[in-house]
Amino acid sequence: METVWGRALAMQPQCGFGEMGVCCTNCSMGPCRIVKISPDGPKKGVCGATEDTMAARNLARSIAAGSAAHSDHGRDIAEALLNFVKQKRPIKDKEKLKLLAEEWGIKSCDDDTENLVAKVAKTALDEFGKPFGHLRFVERAPKKRKDIWESMNVVPRAIDREIVEVLHSTHMGCDADYRNIMNAAVRAALSDGWGGSMIGTELSDILFGTPAPHEVEANLGVLKEDSVNIVIHGHEPTLSEAMVIAVNDPEMIEMAKKQGAESINLVGMCCTGNEISMRHGIPMAGNFFQQELAIVTGAVEAMVVDVQCIMPSLSQLAKCYHTKLITTSCKAKIPGAIHIEFDEIKSIECAKKIVQEAVINFKNRTGNLLIPKEKSKGKVGYSVEAIIKTLDGVTNTFAHPSGTVKPLVDAIKSGVVRGAAAIVGCNNHRVPYDKCHVELARELIKNDVLVVTTGCGAHACIKAGLMSDDAVKLAGKGLATACGLLKIPPVLHMGSCVDISRILHLVSMVANYMDVDIKDLPIAAAAPEWMSEKALSIGTYAVASGIYVVLGVSPQVTGSENLTKYLTSDMEDIYGGRFDIEPDALKAAGKIINHIENKRKALQI
Ligand code: SF4
Ligand code: SF4
Repeated sequence: METVWGRALAMQPQCGFGEMGVCCTNCSMGPCRIVKISPDGPKKGVCGATEDTMAARNLARSIAAGSAAHSDHGRDIAEALLNFVKQKRPIKDKEKLKLLAEEWGIKSCDDDTENLVAKVAKTALDEFGKPFGHLRFVERAPKKRKDIWESMNVVPRAIDREIVEVLHSTHMGCDADYRNIMNAAVRAALSDGWGGSMIGTELSDILFGTPAPHEVEANLGVLKEDSVNIVIHGHEPTLSEAMVIAVNDPEMIEMAKKQGAESINLVGMCCTGNEISMRHGIPMAGNFFQQELAIVTGAVEAMVVDVQCIMPSLSQLAKCYHTKLITTSCKAKIPGAIHIEFDEIKSIECAKKIVQEAVINFKNRTGNLLIPKEKSKGKVGYSVEAIIKTLDGVTNTFAHPSGTVKPLVDAIKSGVVRGAAAIVGCNNHRVPYDKCHVELARELIKNDVLVVTTGCGAHACIKAGLMSDDAVKLAGKGLATACGLLKIPPVLHMGSCVDISRILHLVSMVANYMDVDIKDLPIAAAAPEWMSEKALSIGTYAVASGIYVVLGVSPQVTGSENLTKYLTSDMEDIYGGRFDIEPDALKAAGKIINHIENKRKALQI
């Protein structure tokens, strides 16, 4: 039986040309590669493309792919919102709907929710292909940030347009200037963070509810021996939300009991797991590198997947067990899997059909179960709204208005909390699994740096107990005091990968409150175990938003010294943020703390 670690071992040594980003297959005169180690090797592609051009084009295409993945997810949510109106289904957060409509200048009668939903959904859909203007959420950024973007001509216009433009300009015989290629890539990345991802998050909250703090269980120990276990894996909350409803249907539970099971146990994996844990407290079974291991327990009746980060290996692995791998999206089919197309209009019926497949599979278990005992508990659900509500709890309402970030700014200004860092991203065989996330988070909170996290980093942190009440004991004195007052853990789960847009929103609110730019804040970000193109898009929009980003794994760019310098140094001169590469988590923490202290000095706080 093979897993990701075995395949990674079999792949060694990995190709140096690809690793350095100096291999090009953009036309059929190629493949071309630049030979760096020998003086006699080719230094240009057949068309004359240099190492700078090749590496920048490859990186830009990856960033565009990452932006496309997040943004297409956002589009699906906007379409789901429109479908909700057609189906006359209830909207969970009407307050947020109204606030967003107001922010976007959409007028509607107070009592006409349907009309308002339709207008907001259509306006969101327009963001993908409008011919003029720029993305609406750009207005959330501080003025100084927008000025920088304008001066660089990277203000994202329409989401799809920015992605198309990268693909166009990186076609053979088009853009050969690595700096200009990166400009297009930055614009595509910004159209993700301040566009597609932000739309995905905001509209998901409107549709399914804005997360609020509550406790959940995490790790593979959440699988139950006596129940029908369904793992939902992927990204889009439309499917997982319908699954939450379907598994709670009395008819489904009755059916499970008839098969000899105690109940139906729905658990989440990767980002879709984050979405339903944030909103419904569904247990978080695991992150990217646990998807295969979940099947190996022998206790999974169905692994239900939609899009993104689903290893194609699952289908072969599932065949070694009774597990049914069920694909649901026309965008992501896997040979050997059962395909049940998810139809948004008939979402609950579809979800019930999937649940039935799982339930009838319970009897096919072989009995050799290997469910690990390990599971932990932690608090999740820290949307921006939940954080502000928590801060309201320590606001003196006689002296100050509620609903602001003032208490957070006060804590940072006083130095009780030195700053904040986001730990995001995936798992990668190139670095020790989960260890980098956890070591980094522990070291940061020990030094009074508040940690916010999303994606598979959030899974790693909750499994390590960093979101439990006890975790406060691991924090430095200042952070521990602040967490004690606010009754929060020192590591805050802010959601899925698209929910990194929540972090952008929060830092904009703090920057606006302090009347500074995002680049001036004592904040940083890290993706210690990143692997996906989506993570490259996230890293790029964070840097272009003025944030220092430490990567634990190097992007495939080192074949171009110019591009490497651009990412790790020149970008700071332009945007105030830059990439840094540091695989050692403790050293990465040291760099982040150093960066935060330098920003504090500059702010004279
Ligand atoms: S675009 Fe240029 S470098 Fe790339 S494969 Fe074609 S000829 Fe080679
Ligand atoms: S953090 Fe990475 S691996 Fe995990 S769900 Fe997001 S993109 Fe996929």
